[in-house]
Amino acid sequence: MKVFKFGGASVKEASAVRNVAKIIQLFPDKKIAMVVSAMGKTTNHLEEMVAALWTKNEQLFHEKLAFIQQFHLQIVRELIPDVSHPIYEAIEKIVQELVSKYSHTLHENEDFEYDQIVSLGEVISTKIVAAYFEEIKLKSRWMDARRLIKTNHLYREGKVDWEKTTQNIQEQIIPAFESVDVVITQGFIGYTSEGFTTTLGREGSDYTAGILAYSLHAEDVTIWKDVPGMLNADPKWFDDTVKLEKISFKEAIELSYYGASVIHPKTLKPLQNKGIPLYVKSFIDPLASGTVIQESMDFDQLIPSFIFKMNQVLISLTPKDFSFIVEENLSDIFNRLAKINAKINLMQNSALSFSILLDADKIKLDKMMELFSDQYQVKYNDGLELVTIRHYDQATIDRVSENKTILLEQKTRQTIRMVMKDSQ
Ligand code: ASP
Repeated sequence: MKVFKFGGASVKEASAVRNVAKIIQLFPDKKIAMVVSAMGKTTNHLEEMVAALWTKNEQLFHEKLAFIQQFHLQIVRELIPDVSHPIYEAIEKIVQELVSKYSHTLHENEDFEYDQIVSLGEVISTKIVAAYFEEIKLKSRWMDARRLIKTNHLYREGKVDWEKTTQNIQEQIIPAFESVDVVITQGFIGYTSEGFTTTLGREGSDYTAGILAYSLHAEDVTIWKDVPGMLNADPKWFDDTVKLEKISFKEAIELSYYGASVIHPKTLKPLQNKGIPLYVKSFIDPLASGTVIQESMDFDQLIPSFIFKMNQVLISLTPKDFSFIVEENLSDIFNRLAKINAKINLMQNSALSFSILLDADKIKLDKMMELFSDQYQVKYNDGLELVTIRHYDQATIDRVSENKTILLEQKTRQTIRMVMKDSQ
């Protein structure tokens, strides 16, 4: 049994959905558990709907909804022109569910509402794919991840209840494979003990694939993408990227931890624990080899990898009473940061100051100032970039730091990280 994950780009239009079916047909002797994301950029549009709901911007809310509706209808019309097909009613039902969100009393927790709304992108997407597969007589079944992936109540970042989830997956998916070859379910979403919907964090569909593979003891997982595999740098910043043929779980976890956005970082642990290889392959060229992530570390050192994080802000905190930065105030600083759910990309301390690097678009600087100004002097430096190089040498360092001023640098044997800004 195999697990396949198809992301938003792989189902962004009717021809893309047809291509997904063709990929499935390349594996006629296999049972495939298939995880599908929301189509194209639907999740972003749904996020904007939630924001419009919260700011009571009714016009924007309805504009976004109309866009989402038309976008999906357009795809369905091309795949299944018969408008009496039940898929049209299924889409209308979801649209009505979204319409009703504007008039109902909002839950006090915005994250709760976010999950109830944003999750519907995956629901519509999988319904369309399943309806199309049925049309072309691919033996498949739609399955609701809101009955499979059980999480806690941390909306927008549900933590998986592994015991119950594994049980659900085994009880529901394994018997289904007696009568169908493909099970189609939603990535990214789960449910709480009360049956409310949760999400697993942006880009969480990869993680769902990892969870399914772990629970089903799959032979492998393939993430189908619009790139030929895992590259040693984002082609946005480098024009001579190299594909990594084979790397270890450890290396892939390090790369995704530092910000390589090819795979959701949580995906790899369940696969590593069961020794299930993960392939990253191109949905445009499905027979090409792609990248395989597996146990052996023999190939990790071959090619240096570069990870860029732009728009960083470096904040330094200095205790006003001139006390040293030691365990006590470190724990105080971390407690405060946890309160605003700050995600630290890099940190460093000296005797009197503690510096942290954060994504500028994920924090509010004035909140940050307010949070610390009672006991700390807060200074910041923005417009920075963070570069991480795995398996670096001097030539690679020179290449990325040309015309840059380095504000901070951290080095281990395998990894160098530099916080830089453009030289004046
Ligand atoms: N649709 C979700 C997102 O865009 C989950 C995913 O695609 O992995 O973040």
